[in-house]
Amino acid sequence: MLELKGKKVLVVGLGKSGLAAALFLRRQGAHVTVSDIRSAEALAKDIPALLDEGINVEAGGHGLLTFRRQDLIVVSPGVPLDTPELVQARNLGRPIIGELELAARYLKGQILAVTGSNGKTTTTSLVGEILEKSGLRTQVGGNIGVPVIALIDESADDTWNVLEVSSFQLETTEQFHPRIGVILNITPDHLDRHGTFENYALAKERIFLEQTHDDYLVLNADNAPAASAAQRAKSSVYWFSLAHSVDQGAWVENNNIVFRSAPNAATETVAPLSAIPLKGDHNIENVLASVCAARLAGAAIDSIRKAVEEFKAVEHRLEYVATVNGVDVYNDSKATNVDATAKAIAAFPGNIHLILGGKDKNSDYTELNDLIRARVKAIYTIGSAANKIESHLRGIAPIHSCETLDKAVTAIASAAHPGDIVLLAPACSSFDQFENYEQRGRVFKQLISDWEASRHTPTLLERTH
Ligand code: ADP
Repeated sequence: MLELKGKKVLVVGLGKSGLAAALFLRRQGAHVTVSDIRSAEALAKDIPALLDEGINVEAGGHGLLTFRRQDLIVVSPGVPLDTPELVQARNLGRPIIGELELAARYLKGQILAVTGSNGKTTTTSLVGEILEKSGLRTQVGGNIGVPVIALIDESADDTWNVLEVSSFQLETTEQFHPRIGVILNITPDHLDRHGTFENYALAKERIFLEQTHDDYLVLNADNAPAASAAQRAKSSVYWFSLAHSVDQGAWVENNNIVFRSAPNAATETVAPLSAIPLKGDHNIENVLASVCAARLAGAAIDSIRKAVEEFKAVEHRLEYVATVNGVDVYNDSKATNVDATAKAIAAFPGNIHLILGGKDKNSDYTELNDLIRARVKAIYTIGSAANKIESHLRGIAPIHSCETLDKAVTAIASAAHPGDIVLLAPACSSFDQFENYEQRGRVFKQLISDWEASRHTPTLLERTH
């Protein structure tokens, strides 16, 4: 545990986790300052509570002096580590950690942490539900919405803290080592922030760097960058695979999800594939990873099967929206990178009207060429990435430049035939036109519901006898 009493601590970035961290640090007796580049007006809803607690607030920019004077700096996941004031503080030897590192030092019980480019929220939620169904004391948090710090008070020695951890959170860890770590996949994402794929992969690998021989690491045998972690891990590696059996871990055999705890142990049948209510092979991967991690945490097979059967797609993750005029509509607004979009397209055999675009993340959209050629009827582009997407995909499928989601849905409404699929899986972040992917997904669902309503023109029937 860190000695915080009387220490000067700076929290950089006043998001959900920054706010929780500042209040926690204050309760531990630290002298806390929060610094954010947003204006006092933009931060207005949080400032009174902070001042009331005796926490200083620096809004509208970072002061070099503020950063110099600290014993410890706690940086929020949204803040780039190459922010000049942080670089200077680091050069002066100031310790810099993230909220995850801080919280993990105080959490009681054990940590089960899930990372990966895609599937973290789905898998973290499913593992949480399985452990709960198994009667284990469980808390879920991290990148999924509840700051890890907020789990500290309720944690006890027998708690499983199931955490979704992003590359941004892992970048600022030091001693963080989960009892069970999961790397679902490592595919290109966030290259605008991490610079190179190698840097991004290195951040994800921090999930196991501090693990010991007593810990477990669950890896995707079918994803080479994730699988290669096995060569560097000290922990005991368990595998999951859609493609083949594994020595120890989870895979698919005769249309069943199966698990084996050791190379010479008996194979346990967990659930038939038909019990999985989610669409797409990528979700079978998420189930395999969840089964493996949950089994290692001590979950019972029966509870695993029940939790899998009852699990619903998390909102905005290949979520079924409606069937309008025989056209099935899916909202995958959370498909904010090329791999997630590829997985979404692959979940349908064909006749897809695909909405792509938003804010580019330095992505290569040509990776979608083969899938689009085989399964997509037409592409509808929106947002600031539209030109780049069109230049990458020209000639692969008909492209309609729509600029906005509104116009895209209007165009689709007049083009789609019964049996077609409408898929919002934009392969981009949303920040050019929306607050976040959730808002983009909600706007999309509203537009679909307007389309649906416009099809129901009331009729007048006048009986004459
Ligand atoms: P994350 O928390 O890592 O962003 P989510 O569960 O929120 O993961 O899913 C993000 C996006 O990735 C969604 O579009 C979802 O449909 C897709 N997805 C989910 N699981 C996987 C997976 N295992 N591989 C690739 N894409 C996935």
